Amino acid sequence: MSMSSEPSQTRSATPPQINRLTSTRLGGKLVKDYWDRLFTAKERGAQVVWYNGAAVSPLFQAAGIEWCHGEAFGARLAAMHLEGPAQRTGEDYGYINELCSYARTTLGCAVLTKRATVDDRGISLPEADQEALASRLPPPDFFVNAYAGCSTGQQWDEISYRLFDKKLPFFKISYPLLWGNKPDAGYLRGEEWESASRQVARQVYKLIEFLEHQTGRPFDWEALRESMHYIKRASQLRLEAMALCRSKPAPATFWDWIASIAPINFLPGNQDLVDYFAGVKAEIEQRLSEGVVALPNERYRLAFDGIMNWNKVGWLANKFAENNAAVLTGRYTHNSFWNEPQLIDEDDPILGMAQHYLLCPFNHSAKVLGELLLRECENYGIEGVVFHATRTCRSASNGQLIIAQMAQRAGLQTMFFEGDVADASFYKDAILESRLEAMLEAIDTRRMSAT
Ligand code: SF4
Repeated sequence: MSMSSEPSQTRSATPPQINRLTSTRLGGKLVKDYWDRLFTAKERGAQVVWYNGAAVSPLFQAAGIEWCHGEAFGARLAAMHLEGPAQRTGEDYGYINELCSYARTTLGCAVLTKRATVDDRGISLPEADQEALASRLPPPDFFVNAYAGCSTGQQWDEISYRLFDKKLPFFKISYPLLWGNKPDAGYLRGEEWESASRQVARQVYKLIEFLEHQTGRPFDWEALRESMHYIKRASQLRLEAMALCRSKPAPATFWDWIASIAPINFLPGNQDLVDYFAGVKAEIEQRLSEGVVALPNERYRLAFDGIMNWNKVGWLANKFAENNAAVLTGRYTHNSFWNEPQLIDEDDPILGMAQHYLLCPFNHSAKVLGELLLRECENYGIEGVVFHATRTCRSASNGQLIIAQMAQRAGLQTMFFEGDVADASFYKDAILESRLEAMLEAIDTRRMSAT
């Protein structure tokens, strides 16, 4: 498959379907099994924590607590197109639709869960089936907030705490923003990075004390080391598999890595997780050896900046494929979620965990984000960057204009489209289509003038 610059090769004469990896289906099953198990936590007598933000779940796993990641559940409902009842419940309760739609969805779930379980009023409203799904979240025993870089995220669990009558225990980790202003500051380096890492690590030890208090049991350090061993291995496999996708044409795309976010973000650290990413890597290796590609006629290689538009994943994947545009890398996939496994010391994992919590891509300066993007564009041979301007997630869209200017100065084409994480009403197909077409034409023009 060529990357021809011939203008006679039309972008959408015969709309191709994107050839998605099949190994990621196992991830979907693991995630479904995880949620189904969580839904029965109370029947099994388990303690449940509701939390948001960074992947503190290995601490819960080691403490024998079941965990509900609010954002992940909001994303799940949106991806299943079942977010409506929860969002309307949130709005009816008083949360305006400009509030982060992840938070609005999950706060709606919290209202429904409380009605269904704590207040025992049952579900008797329209759309009962969908509401039942949203209200199946087991009520929390306590809350943990571990959100870096976003004031909404940092207050989200405080609102949940209020919804549950301010009676449940609540622990919060406070992260310093990585401003990057000092002369020695940079990605993974400088005194700011070192001191912030120590500051967060101290709080993680405090969180462990909190968990010991809530469970009445000593923390199981060996279980944490074991969990982090598996997570580190899974992370290495994920990065190795991603690197294989630098090949031209690419054997897999950004959309396959979107499908793999949930497993690396909140599934338990265990052999299943390692096997999943080993399977993904094996399928990509097999594709490379057999010449199987993600797009039958890859012509453009693009990067995607911003959080995902969960209601539109399939539509977006096909829209780019119809234009022979392979989206290959993105901030949300390639610069997030245990993405620096060399930082994790399996025998003493707290500092490396704390550092990953700081590495949340909403916690960096725009300059660092731009540098990371340009590095990835170089790695993948990218010609254009798609910026998803997320309406209700200012943390994701904050700094994007600066990042776009950095990309333009490096010779990349850029485009913006408006959308949202979990509220489809902010998204407009026609705008994405016209801007994508304009950017691809600009790439063609540039190629023509270079020949
Ligand atoms: S606004 Fe964005 S970063 Fe903040 S909680 Fe919502 S999705 Fe997360």
